[in-house]
Amino acid sequence: PGEPRGSPVSRLAVAGVKSIIAVASGKGGVGKSTTAVNLAVALALQHKLRVGLLDADVYGPSVPTLMKLQGRPQLDKESKMLPLENYGVKCMSMGFLMDKDAPAVWRGPMVMSALEKLTRGTAWGNIDVLVVDMPPGTGDVQISISQRLPLAGAVIVSTPQDLALVDARRGVNMFQKVDVPILGIIENMSYFKCPKCGERSDIFGHGGAKSTSEEMSMEFLGEIPLNIALRETSDVGEPIVAFSPNSEISGIYSSIARRI
Ligand code: ADP
Repeated sequence: PGEPRGSPVSRLAVAGVKSIIAVASGKGGVGKSTTAVNLAVALALQHKLRVGLLDADVYGPSVPTLMKLQGRPQLDKESKMLPLENYGVKCMSMGFLMDKDAPAVWRGPMVMSALEKLTRGTAWGNIDVLVVDMPPGTGDVQISISQRLPLAGAVIVSTPQDLALVDARRGVNMFQKVDVPILGIIENMSYFKCPKCGERSDIFGHGGAKSTSEEMSMEFLGEIPLNIALRETSDVGEPIVAFSPNSEISGIYSSIARRI
């Protein structure tokens, strides 16, 4: 409240963190968290960077499940929370601090103070990249996060459908309003390749994200297919990039990670 939309407020650095990248989507369910997790793991295991993952999706934190992490963070001498680590990535999530089934019925200011604690109250150590899994959508909370964190850039995840793309455009506009560079768009659930015959089906249409990114003069970062192994590995907290690093899908994540 009181902060005019679009005006940069103080974007304090996060101690020890070199660069912060947001992974965002205009709406939920398009694969934003799956993408954030696999990109973070690719940056850590394949590109050998020191990586953190901040689960800013306080309404539906999925990093604990996707990274197979649970338990409460310990505190260091300065009472900062120590991130939990798996697959070479240091993670912090509201999911570590609250009961699994407790609903997060929070108002904006509470969300922001929780996120401040998760971000600046965490002892990240020295890391090269902090990947932020943003809450879906383009409301006040998303704008506040973008205004408070010194984001090096944002990656937008969308499916090929028109509806999802309309929302993706909103996401792009939101970041542009608050002067956060868009690193590019990723099309998720882009196509389905039949595991038996190899035939490709464009279940949700195809190429929408690419043409939208061209229209908006933005980088198109790549297409991730709809893939059963990707869903199954996510569900059990074993990111495909960590467990099948040589698969085609891991290769796609790795090449996107190299470009961001
Ligand atoms: P969001 O963060 O946008 O809400 P999630 O990453 O939680 O979306 O993904 C929603 C669901 O879709 C999850 O069950 C996830 O495993 C699945 N999913 C995401 N991307 C793919 C994909 N490319 N292929 C198959 N399943 C996917």
